[in-house]
Amino acid sequence: MTHPPSHAGAVLTIDLDAIAANYRLLCERAGRAAVGAAVKADAYGLGAQRVAPVLAAQGCRHFFVAHLDEGIALRPWLPHDAQIHVLHGPPPGTEEEFLRYRLVPVLNSMVQLSAWRRLARQEGRALPAIVQVDTGMCRLGMPPAEVDAWLDGPAPREGIDLRYLMSHLGCADVTDHPMNRMQLERFRAVRARLPGVPCSFANSSGIFLGEEFTFDLARPGAALYGIAPVDGLANPMHPVVRLQGRIIQSRTVAAGDCVGYGARHRCDAETRIATVAVGYADGWLRSGSGRGVAHIDGVEVRQVGTVSMDTATFDVSAIDPARVQPGMTVDLISPSDPVDAVAARAGTIAYEILTSLGTRFAREYRGGTAAMARCA
Ligand SMILES: *Cc1c(COP(=O)(O)O)cnc(C)c1O
Repeated sequence: MTHPPSHAGAVLTIDLDAIAANYRLLCERAGRAAVGAAVKADAYGLGAQRVAPVLAAQGCRHFFVAHLDEGIALRPWLPHDAQIHVLHGPPPGTEEEFLRYRLVPVLNSMVQLSAWRRLARQEGRALPAIVQVDTGMCRLGMPPAEVDAWLDGPAPREGIDLRYLMSHLGCADVTDHPMNRMQLERFRAVRARLPGVPCSFANSSGIFLGEEFTFDLARPGAALYGIAPVDGLANPMHPVVRLQGRIIQSRTVAAGDCVGYGARHRCDAETRIATVAVGYADGWLRSGSGRGVAHIDGVEVRQVGTVSMDTATFDVSAIDPARVQPGMTVDLISPSDPVDAVAARAGTIAYEILTSLGTRFAREYRGGTAAMARCA
């Protein structure tokens, strides 16, 4: 099919069955650990309300969002027994919202823990929570000194129904990075002080570091969405996203003419240029100017000139002009040119490409019908 089914500048096709297959693959790799799902940032830009029910139908019962508001928005789309964990924990004064919407906070500091405990006292029962400890990433979670103060203090678990002890790996995509083992050792040391508490440690890449990293609950995001979990290795995940950009003009330019803002690309010879209605406002990053590619019926064409807000220009001299007419499409992300490769050309990671992909695109979801039936 060469014509998008709408007037949008691009069609983003999201394969829900591929996400389900990726979930099953991660379950296999995670061994005896349960596998949750990071669906923060609208499921990495792919639509949390569509993605999360598909994962729930696969048996996923632990969902991770970053913000309280993401959790509130997701709650109606998941079965009653699915847990939604809020990674940032409660912003001050919002603790009661967590109860109202049945959200489980990830407590990242003594301040958050004390506030949660205060609410527990009010409610007269222990309240469910995950506690995150920092084991070396220095981003979120209790720093080591705070962990000591917590665990050496009186009744550390009072008021807290501690569902998981959690930490997050900073370098898990690099298999032999020394940080991985250092973080693992630090995590084990805290775990030893909380006997019987289930643990959650691995993100997507962490699952591929081996069994000792997966503990009781893994929290993959990227790999579910088809992003390669291990740097430098063949990607075992199924591709999830296809992006087809629509050609809105094509022209022949003379030798010596320059293309795009800043006149940064000068054509050495007569060149056929196709202008595609996808630009940096759609997440087709300007940093990839002159380095991106598209595919037309499997043939690679180079992006030339500076990427504009709403358009990018491609050298299609090698393509039959009849195939690059306005209304026809080019592949910008596809199984043969996956999001990891697209990201590398723009000098970033696939996570940033997925979460930046535009709100102006037409979105088509494939598969996932079982999930829709189940949650209807
Ligand atoms: C985003 C995130 C994840 C998921 O990470 P991926 O690399 O996408 O698998 C897991 N845990 C935490 C704390 C996160 O912030």
